[in-house]
Amino acid sequence: MAPRQVVVVGAGPGGLRTVEQLRKKGYDGALTVVGDEPHAPYDRPALSKQVLLGKAEPTALALRGAEQLAALGADFRLGRRAVSLDVPEARLELDDGDTLRFDALVLATGCGARRLQIGAGLAGVHYLRSLDDAVAVRAALATARRIVVVGGGFIGCEVAAAARALGLEVTLVEAAAAPLAPILGGRVGELVTQLHVERGVTVRSGTGVAGIDGGTRVESVRLSDGSEVAADVVVLGVGTQPSTDWLAGSGLTLDNGVLCDRHCSAGTGVFAVGDVARWYNPLFDEVMRIEHWTNAAEQAAVVAANVQAYLAGGAGAPLADYAPVPYFWSDQYDTRIQFAGRTRAGDDVHLLPPAGDGRERVALYGREERLVGALAMNSPRSLLRYRQAIGARASWDSTLDELAGVGA
Ligand SMILES: Cc1cc2nc3c(=O)[nH]c(=O)nc-3n(C[C@H](O)[C@H](O)[C@H](O)COP(=O)(O)OP(=O)(O)OC[C@H]3O[C@@H](n4cnc5c(N)ncnc54)[C@H](O)[C@@H]3O)c2cc1C
Repeated sequence: MAPRQVVVVGAGPGGLRTVEQLRKKGYDGALTVVGDEPHAPYDRPALSKQVLLGKAEPTALALRGAEQLAALGADFRLGRRAVSLDVPEARLELDDGDTLRFDALVLATGCGARRLQIGAGLAGVHYLRSLDDAVAVRAALATARRIVVVGGGFIGCEVAAAARALGLEVTLVEAAAAPLAPILGGRVGELVTQLHVERGVTVRSGTGVAGIDGGTRVESVRLSDGSEVAADVVVLGVGTQPSTDWLAGSGLTLDNGVLCDRHCSAGTGVFAVGDVARWYNPLFDEVMRIEHWTNAAEQAAVVAANVQAYLAGGAGAPLADYAPVPYFWSDQYDTRIQFAGRTRAGDDVHLLPPAGDGRERVALYGREERLVGALAMNSPRSLLRYRQAIGARASWDSTLDELAGVGA
C-alpha cells in the first residue's frame, strides 16, 4: 500500500494534539502540519494572563520542546499559510506555491480576532489573539497610564484584570448589562462586575463604543451614551471570527466555522478540530462551536481516532461521536472562574450562597428539566462534580432537591 499522508492545517493546540494522538494511536504514515504563525505551538491562554503580567516570557510559552516535536516525525511547515483547498482532488495549496496531497485532512485553523473599522490605523489600539499581539500589548501597557478595554468577554476581562494589577487606570466597556452576562447570565455578570469594581476598574456596562479618537495615537474613546473616556491604550475584545475565508469554494459548508457532523467530519476525508469546528454534539442535541482550550485537546483525540478509522475503512467506516461537556476556565485577579456545559438566554439560573471564605460561588443552569451548565468561582471541586452530573444528564429538579437536602 502507498504510504499515507495526513495533513493538518493550523499549529495551535488542536493541530498539535491531533498529531500527537495520531502517533499515539499507531499512525506511522506521513504527517505535515501547516501553521501560518512563525512560532511552534504555544500556550495561548497564557497571553492574557502571565504574558501581560510579565510573569512569563513569550519564549517560555512553547507547548512542547524541540525534541518532543521532532519525535513526532511530522513535517512542520511554520510561517506557511494554506490558501486554497480542493476536496475532490484532495489537494491543498500553500502561500509559497507548494501543493500538498492528502489521504486525510484536519482543519485546525482556530479563530482570528473580530476587527472593527473604528480605531483602525491609530497607534495604541490593539487586539489580542496571537503571541505577537500579546508582546505588543505588553509593551503598550508598560508605558501607559490609562487603558480602555472594549468588550467584557473573557479576553476583555482578563486584560482589564492584568492592566489593573499593573497599576493602570482601567475602564471596561461592555454593551450588554454586565461583563460576561451574555455568556453566563445577568446574575453571574453582576458578580463579575463586582470583582472588577472592587479592584478599582471602572465598569461601563450597557453602552457601546461610537468612536476611537486621536491624531496618530489614540487619545480617547467615545461611548454611545455620549461620554468620552481618555485612553493611552485601547484593547478591543469584541469577538472572534473562525479562520475559514481561505476555504471559500472548497465545497465544505462554512457557517460560523467549518460545519461537521457528530464525528467532526466535514466532508470525505476532511475533519475539523478546535475553535474552527462547528459540529453536532449529541449530548446537547445542538450544533456548537467551542472556543476553549480543553475542547481543542479533547476533540483532537476523537478526530485522530476518526482519521485512523477513515484511513483503514474508507468513507463508510464507523466513526466515533464527539459528545463532550464543554469546559473552560478564566483567571481574573486571584479568582478562577470555571464553567462546564452550555447555557442560553432563558435558562433557569440558581445561584448558591457564598461558601468558604465568601469567595466561592457556584451557579447552576437548567433547561427543559435538565442540568445543562455549572459555573464555579474558586470552587474547582464543585465544578468537577457538576461537570460529571451534566454528562450523566442529571435532572434539574433532582439537582435542586439534592441541594435543598444538603442545606436542610
Ligand atoms: C488571549 C487568549 C486567552 C485565552 N484564554 C483561555 C482560557 O483561559 N481558557 C480557555 O479555555 N481558553 C482560552 N483561550 C482559548 C484557547 O486558546 C483556544 O480555544 C485554543 O487556542 C483553540 O485552539 P485551536 O488549535 O483550535 O486554534 P488556535 O489556537 O487559534 O490555533 C490555530 C492556528 O492556525 C493558524 N491558522 C489560521 N489559518 C491558517 C491557515 N490558512 N493556514 C495555516 N495556519 C492557519 C492560526 O494562526 C493559529 O496559529 C484563550 C484564547 C486567547 C486568544
